[in-house]
Amino acid sequence: MFKKSSKLNNVLYDVRGPVVDEAERMESSGVQILKLNIGNPAPFGFRTPDEVIYDMRQQLTECEGYSPAKGLFAARKAIMQYAQLKNIPNVTIEDIYTGNGVSELINLSMSALLDDGDEILIPSPDYPLWTACATLAGGKAVHYLCDEQADWYPDLADIRKKITRHTKAIVIINPNNPTGALYPKEVLEGIVEIARQHHLIIFSDEIYDRLVMDGGEHISIASLAPDLFCVTFSGLSKSHMIAGFRIGWMILSGNKAIAQDYIEGIRMLSNMRLCSNVPAQSIVQTALGGYQSVSNYLTPGGRIYEQRECIYQALKDIPGLSVVKPKAAFYMFPKLDVKKFHITNDEQFALDLLRDKKILLIHGGGFHWEQPDHFRVVYLPRIEVLKESADKIADFLSYYQQN
Ligand code: PLP
Repeated sequence: MFKKSSKLNNVLYDVRGPVVDEAERMESSGVQILKLNIGNPAPFGFRTPDEVIYDMRQQLTECEGYSPAKGLFAARKAIMQYAQLKNIPNVTIEDIYTGNGVSELINLSMSALLDDGDEILIPSPDYPLWTACATLAGGKAVHYLCDEQADWYPDLADIRKKITRHTKAIVIINPNNPTGALYPKEVLEGIVEIARQHHLIIFSDEIYDRLVMDGGEHISIASLAPDLFCVTFSGLSKSHMIAGFRIGWMILSGNKAIAQDYIEGIRMLSNMRLCSNVPAQSIVQTALGGYQSVSNYLTPGGRIYEQRECIYQALKDIPGLSVVKPKAAFYMFPKLDVKKFHITNDEQFALDLLRDKKILLIHGGGFHWEQPDHFRVVYLPRIEVLKESADKIADFLSYYQQN
């Protein structure tokens, strides 16, 4: 019997876990499932901008070999200019690493940093890869609360409470998956001040930074922390609807002098994986340059904007449900009245909904949310699908009782 490594014992990654397995089983027996579970734009009819496809076609034959480990010069130059536009301080081309999606770089940055027993502050709810990678690296993920009453902003008092002498870093996800929150400057400044007082590295996952609605402005936290060491992550999976191409990046900024040894570790791991997908790197300059057509989806009349309006309006009026209207990305994280429905197990709730109404959602626990009272909705599907789903959820909740 071959057993999996004990390193995986405490790793949870439910975004593709048991509820999804059950949905796959149902699908394979011919059942059609309404999928509100995954943030992958292409299957929902979102198309890649033409110039990106054109550029990749033109360059494909030049992309047969490995690139430098950190990435092609032209890609990193474009990312550096992007960092300048976002006022991220003290960034040279050497501070930019491309990756096979942000996912690879989350893993790499955690592996290079954490020793057994090191603690890292991660939001609850989170994008669970952060917790999984920190745990796999031997670190201890300590979850700080984001406050639903305050538009899902990080609870600064809770962050302070959870810092110990083992805390090395804090992760923020802004704009946020799964809540759709966009953090204002005061909140970011509050986090920077805590990091400053406690000598923490700031990791900021900003993969949704170009998917902001209602005239909101995305601020990179690194731009507020020139005296701290920050690592900012972004990529093209969501903004250019090319999650399958696998291209993301990370930007080291601010006070790099205090992180020389860690940076050496990052460089070593980056060299060990040789390089990220080169055809996908080859389109970064074209994708980041000029007009960002994703914004067409995010204004009134645009698909993501209208889909948000539709699902928000439909869900907020269902008895026993409440929801904070998201301002960015394409997620929302509604709350269930657990007393009304006698809910004690949110995974069971997601399974019951799946089996009864053929709707696939991920329960809050999949995002390290401790109470059994939330689930995430991805509003990438078209309005007709969202309406049908909301009607079915309303009907389900009109009779559902867990115990
Ligand atoms: N970070 C967040 C917050 C995400 O939601 C996702 C994907 O859903 C990722 C990172 C991973 O993105 P990538 O496709 O660049 O690996």
